[in-house]
Amino acid sequence: PAAIYKIPRAPPDKILGLTEEFNKDKNPNKTNLTVGIYKDNWGHVTTFPSVARAQMVLDQSFEMNTDLSYLPIEGCPDFQSNVLQFLYKESCPEGAEFLSKNRISFVQTLSGTGALAVASKLLSLFMSKAVWIPNPSWPNHANVFQNNGFKRINYYTYYRDGGLDVDSWLQDLEQAVRDGDGSPQCIVLHACCHNPTGVDPSLEQWRTILDKINELNLIPIIDMAYQGLDTGDLHKDAYLLRMSLDEERYQWPNGLFLCQSFAKNMGLYGERVGSLSVVTPADTELKLNIDSQLKKIVRGMYSSPPGYGSRVANVVLSNPELKKTWFKDVQNMASRLQYVRAELGKRLDWPLLNNTRANHGMFLYTGLDPSKVDQLRRNHSVYLVQDGRLSLSGLNDSNLDYVCDALKKVSE
Ligand code: PMP
Repeated sequence: PAAIYKIPRAPPDKILGLTEEFNKDKNPNKTNLTVGIYKDNWGHVTTFPSVARAQMVLDQSFEMNTDLSYLPIEGCPDFQSNVLQFLYKESCPEGAEFLSKNRISFVQTLSGTGALAVASKLLSLFMSKAVWIPNPSWPNHANVFQNNGFKRINYYTYYRDGGLDVDSWLQDLEQAVRDGDGSPQCIVLHACCHNPTGVDPSLEQWRTILDKINELNLIPIIDMAYQGLDTGDLHKDAYLLRMSLDEERYQWPNGLFLCQSFAKNMGLYGERVGSLSVVTPADTELKLNIDSQLKKIVRGMYSSPPGYGSRVANVVLSNPELKKTWFKDVQNMASRLQYVRAELGKRLDWPLLNNTRANHGMFLYTGLDPSKVDQLRRNHSVYLVQDGRLSLSGLNDSNLDYVCDALKKVSE
């Protein structure tokens, strides 16, 4: 037979596949708690007021609205300066020094996933083909690294027996380096609001973890997809970046990679707006090499990023009034997620809901096993991800009772 018949069927995406099933469900009470999209208390995906205003500004600007030409390979120059300012001066003042010394390589990317794709391509071409991912993690991590040349996808213990297990995490890393061939290995760190567990290490635990990663010479890849959704304060939530860029403590001889997304915190999901930055250990020459390779990778992968979303982000980031509104919008989103958690806590007698360590961001890791998740879906049309992850943003005043009853029934 022709070679084309060698293509086997791939399994459906673990998360997006469920929405396809949900759409076919005829139950009027059906509730989709799978995808990490923020919905308001009426179950609507709305545009943030700051972003809607930015869109109006764009609409009214002849030049910005009619320019549909290509962006440069590395993205819009204004986007680069606005985002660098936001990330490395405002969110992480420790970064200002790196910026002024011209040590941060930057590309606008197709949101956080695109940043991970470009980062993994650069790493696998020149530096490393082994990566450590938390167990569990966002399922697409393994997929992205595999697709971009990584040969070894390893998992470090993150969550076990209902909680974070830092001791096992560090032991796994030590073992890995002991068993390795001495070539550099990468590690993915969720900056905050760990997906899927909602459990983040404390600052003291992060200190110990970063010390170990530094001692073992691992290459940190910080995945920051939920900045602002934890405390509601965009700046505050960048604590992992701030801790990592303490140069007196860590030098990161193979650089530090930051994959950042505006999908959730600006609600720009489908517009694909984000960035990859590489904080380099040395001077401008090295940065220029990395810049040039990043451009080469992007050119071969998708040529240049889309324009509209980055223009919207530019308006929000550069207009002081809209920026203030944006901070309020993010605060409102985080508050509603906290409200939903509290309402769940009133209705369900789950110790998990009283565990403050397990209460970060958009997701609740219910601990329901796959058979219970199936029961929820089949008997009640309540859709969770198979690993028991529940997206809190799909809950609101009109479905909380129904969903909690269903959760109680399957947990009995
Ligand atoms: N990393 C993690 C941990 C995520 O949960 C997500 C979003 N689901 C992403 C990265 C990237 O998302 P996006 O490409 O939409 O920015």
